[in-house]
Amino acid sequence: MSSAIARIFATVLPGLAACATSGCGRADAHAAGAPGEHGPPRGRIVVATSTLCTDLARTVCEGVPGTQIEGLMPAGVDPHLWRPTAGGARMLARAEVVVANGLRLEGRMADVLPKLARSGCTVFEASSAIPMDRWRTADDAHGQPDPHVWMDPSLWARAAEGLASCMAREDPDHAAQYAANAAAFAARCDRVAERVHAAISTIPPERRLLVTAHDAFGYFGAAFGIEVRGVQGLSTESETGLANLRTLLDEVVARGVPAVFVETSVPDRAVAALVEGARARGARLATGGTLHSDALGAPGTPAGDWEGMMLDNARTIVTALGGDASGLDPGEPTR
Ligand SMILES: [Zn+2]
Repeated sequence: MSSAIARIFATVLPGLAACATSGCGRADAHAAGAPGEHGPPRGRIVVATSTLCTDLARTVCEGVPGTQIEGLMPAGVDPHLWRPTAGGARMLARAEVVVANGLRLEGRMADVLPKLARSGCTVFEASSAIPMDRWRTADDAHGQPDPHVWMDPSLWARAAEGLASCMAREDPDHAAQYAANAAAFAARCDRVAERVHAAISTIPPERRLLVTAHDAFGYFGAAFGIEVRGVQGLSTESETGLANLRTLLDEVVARGVPAVFVETSVPDRAVAALVEGARARGARLATGGTLHSDALGAPGTPAGDWEGMMLDNARTIVTALGGDASGLDPGEPTR
């Protein structure tokens, strides 16, 4: 554990101790509907790490009474680099269930999540609900699985089913509701996948190359038939290699790819360097827009939930690479 996180947890040890003795909230004041020490009854507290995990938890727990979802990371925050704040640590200490992505997405929480699990809280990792043979490993990632599993709708549906099973064990009275929510979400995932696949297939084949700031779109590319390159590696903590930039530049220029993309949660320096390099060679390369990779947009905006994010990203990509994005219009019903 880093000294910073150790200091944070030192301030909330009493809270963690309460969590450890609660048996994941079944037996005491942590239980759903049980009265808080002061004030009205508290719900079952589910704390999720990234905005994608918070959205998943809200989807699976929708309509279940006595369940309160709290998100640790605000919109637009990079989960690779996020460290628990003092407020976040207090939130975690009250949680009965923590929903994380896993596969080291929450790189700065690597010590915190096992500690919570040992303390008696249930820690659900979305990636653990996905069969290991579906995990993707990037060529240059030294065997580290790609954590960006939400980019493939069929995998994110599995994550929802896994969370529904986990919540049913915590809260058997509402098992049917959790299962129904996950099944409804899986159906939505199928429809999103159909629409995105159809739109991506309208991009001229030689332009089906998605270049982004970091390597977050591998699952997206595999699911929808578009090659993917990230200027940085799987984590935004990776250094951008000059050799990698040159190789990418050669490929983008040779294929006449018209656009590369920045990401909301990652600085755009590396992508800007790529655009500048291509223009120096006389190529027409533009920034095709901003994609939501590791963080949702603010609530109420087009990319404010998983479905909106997938459609918004696809619309940006298809439009900039010269395809037909009309099937992704917001007015098109998915639900
Ligand atoms: Zn990432």
